[in-house]
This record gives sequence, C-alpha cells and structure tokens, in this order.
Amino acid sequence: MKTNRMTLYIVIGLIAGIVIGSVFNTMSDQAWVQWIDQYIFNVVGQLFLNMIFMMVVPIVFISIVLGVYNVGDPKTLGSLGIKTIGFYLITTAIAITIAMTVANVLDPGTGQSELLESEEVSEYRSTELEGGETGQAVEQTVDQTIIDLVPGNIFQAMAEENMLQIILLAVFIGIAMITVKDKVGTLVKVFEQANDVVLTIVMAIMKYFAAIGAFGLVATAFTQAGFDAIGQLGMYFVCVLIALFIHLALVYGSMVQFLAKKSYVWFLKNFAPAMGIGFSTSSSSASLPVSLETAQKRLNIRKGISSFVQPLGATINMDGTAIMQGVATVFIAQLSGIDLTLMQMVTVVVIATVASIGTAGVPGVGLVMLAMVLTAIGLDPAAIGIIIGIDRLLDMTRTMTNITGDAAIALILDHQQDVKEGKHKEGASEEA
Ligand code: ASP
Repeated sequence: MKTNRMTLYIVIGLIAGIVIGSVFNTMSDQAWVQWIDQYIFNVVGQLFLNMIFMMVVPIVFISIVLGVYNVGDPKTLGSLGIKTIGFYLITTAIAITIAMTVANVLDPGTGQSELLESEEVSEYRSTELEGGETGQAVEQTVDQTIIDLVPGNIFQAMAEENMLQIILLAVFIGIAMITVKDKVGTLVKVFEQANDVVLTIVMAIMKYFAAIGAFGLVATAFTQAGFDAIGQLGMYFVCVLIALFIHLALVYGSMVQFLAKKSYVWFLKNFAPAMGIGFSTSSSSASLPVSLETAQKRLNIRKGISSFVQPLGATINMDGTAIMQGVATVFIAQLSGIDLTLMQMVTVVVIATVASIGTAGVPGVGLVMLAMVLTAIGLDPAAIGIIIGIDRLLDMTRTMTNITGDAAIALILDHQQDVKEGKHKEGASEEA
C-alpha cells in the first residue's frame, strides 16, 4: 500500500474515532456503550498498541547499533550527539517560553480560584501523600536518573523497556564494532538483516492495523474523555493548543525551511502517518517504530542519523510536554492569584526543560513531572488534580508535537551531513 493511501486511512480512522467517541461520550452511562467501548474500541486499540510496543526494543536496539556503526567514527558520533542534545534543549526552552507567553496573554486562570478548592485537588493531595513527599521523590529521581543511565543488567533494561539504558548499550556495541571492524563482517550482516526483518514487521503492522488501531485508541479516549470537565478549563485547553500550534507551525516550520532547506509542507505530508500514530497512542516510545520508518523511507533521512537522533529524542525531547507544563504552571499560578516573577519564569524554563528529559515517552507522564516544576517555584503540586481530567486529550496533541520535533531535528542534522559531504542538491529529496 502506498504511504499516501495509508496516511488517508489513518486520518479517516482518527476522525471516525473522534466523531464516534464524542457521540458515545454523550451516552456513556448506557450499558451497551460501555460494552462497545470495553470490548471493541479498547481491545482493538490495545492490540495495536501491543503490536507496536512489541517492536520498540528490537528496533531501537538494532537500529542504534547499526546507526552508530554506519557513522563509522566515534568522534563524528560525539559531535552528532552534542548537536542533537543542543538542538533538543534549545527547542524545548523555546517551547516553554511560547507556552508561558500565550498563557500570560490569554490569562486562562484569573478569577477562577474556586477551582483550587475542588474535590480533585484534595483527591490528588491524598494520593500524593500516600505515595510519599513529592519534593523528596524528585530529589531521588534526579540522582537515580543519573545512576540509572547505565544498565546493571542488559536483559532487565530490555525487559523494562528502559530507553536510555538500551540506547547507551547499543551505542557501546556500535562503537566496539567500529573498533574491531575487520573481524565483525558477519555480525554487521546479522544486524542489517535483522533490521530488514523488524522493519518488514512494522510495515505490515502499519499496513493492516494502523488505521483500525488508531480508530480504537482514539474512540475509547474520546468516549471516556472528560468533556464535562473541560468547562472552566476551556481557556487552559485552548492555550495549550495555541502554543502547540505556534511551536509546530513557526518553530519547526522555520527550522525545516531554513536549517534543513526543505519544504515544511513536504515534511508534514510525508511525516503524517507517524504524527497520526503519535496522536492516537499518546506515546513517543510506541510511535518510534513508525516514526523511524517514516523518517528513513519518506523523508530520506540517513539511517545512521535517524536511528540515533529519533530514539534519543523520543526519550529526552518533549517540546509538546514542556508546552503543557508551561501553560499549566502559569494557569495554576493565576488560580492562586500569584504573579510569577521573571526569576520564577526562568526557573520554570530550566526545570521544565530538565523535567522533559526525565519524562518517559508513555501516556500521562508529563503530568506527573509537572509536580517537579510546580514544587520548584513554590506552587502546590496538588493543583495538578484540576487538569488531570482533561489531560488525556491534550496528551494526544502534545505527543504528536514531541515526535515531530525529533524528526525535524533529524532532518536538519541529515542536511548538515549532506552539506559536509558536498551532497546537497536543493529540493532533491522533496519529490517523494
Ligand atoms: N505522552 C507523552 C509522550 O509520550 C509524554 C507526556 O507528556 O506525558 O511523548
């Protein structure tokens, strides 16, 4: 199946899911609606999610080993790593700044302080106390995150799908293979063939299940969505969407246009299937097999670059998440009648950037990490309870943004490599 047709089917699946889910939401107290949601939407969606999750570890591991090996020189790899992380940090900081500006201009929280007294806040506070002190938990997370970069047991790393550990292990193996290049011809072949096999499986999953799977995931999310909860949170919701839109259109748009020298429309058209999967799964990690395949086949990004930059991005680069955190922080400050000082805003930018590195690419984690940002500037993390109800819907849009950022940066780095190798032909790869 041509990818264009596949994109169309995925888009139809998403729209059908949104429409049918929204209609079902209005009758969600009916037993038959709950039955269809549980046994059809949810089963279809979760089956699809499991299928792509099943491929995440093999694809990340195999493609990074090969990617590193293909880069061929640890020094080049080092500079690629530094550039990648640099781009990730800068774009995330820009994302939060946009988010806080939008929230300051549109003022979603002023005059709604009664939300802070709501049941959701006390419920969140009691679960938080059961789970231990937030501040302490954050401190442990920071040092433990550093220690946990290195896997004590490689099988455990894979079983727990710990992306950073898997990436590190794969980088080590790739570098070791470069070092003993003459002796590992067979092993390289094995990895190359294994790569073909996993990509073939991903393609088959996409071809036969993506549209229906996306439908199921979105239909169940919208059936259960807290539309009623949107009420007073409408402006917060809109602010997050506006900030995501600005970031997607202006920041990534100009980056692709000016730094990668490619048409942004071409980029979006070709990356759309992966964006659809990001939207429906709300998980950067689950989207990885598809976003890697789409970037390499449709955007013609070198395997060596795509397979290193995108898995790393799915793990540490979360611009969409940072946007939600920026808007949420200003919103909660406004509810509390607090005017954030410039120093507090800068603190939010720094902490939310760090938090986005520690955010796992699975649904809902961005909201958990928001506690770290709120605590850092003295706001009550229990206020997260207010926005929990509508977070699933925003998670879809921010995850789509998260993975688009990874691919845009991979495209820029690929273009820089073209220039380095004297290969760049204006618009050469834009015809696909
Ligand atoms: N769901 C997001 C992702 O996987 C993370 C988050 O913001 O919760 O990219």
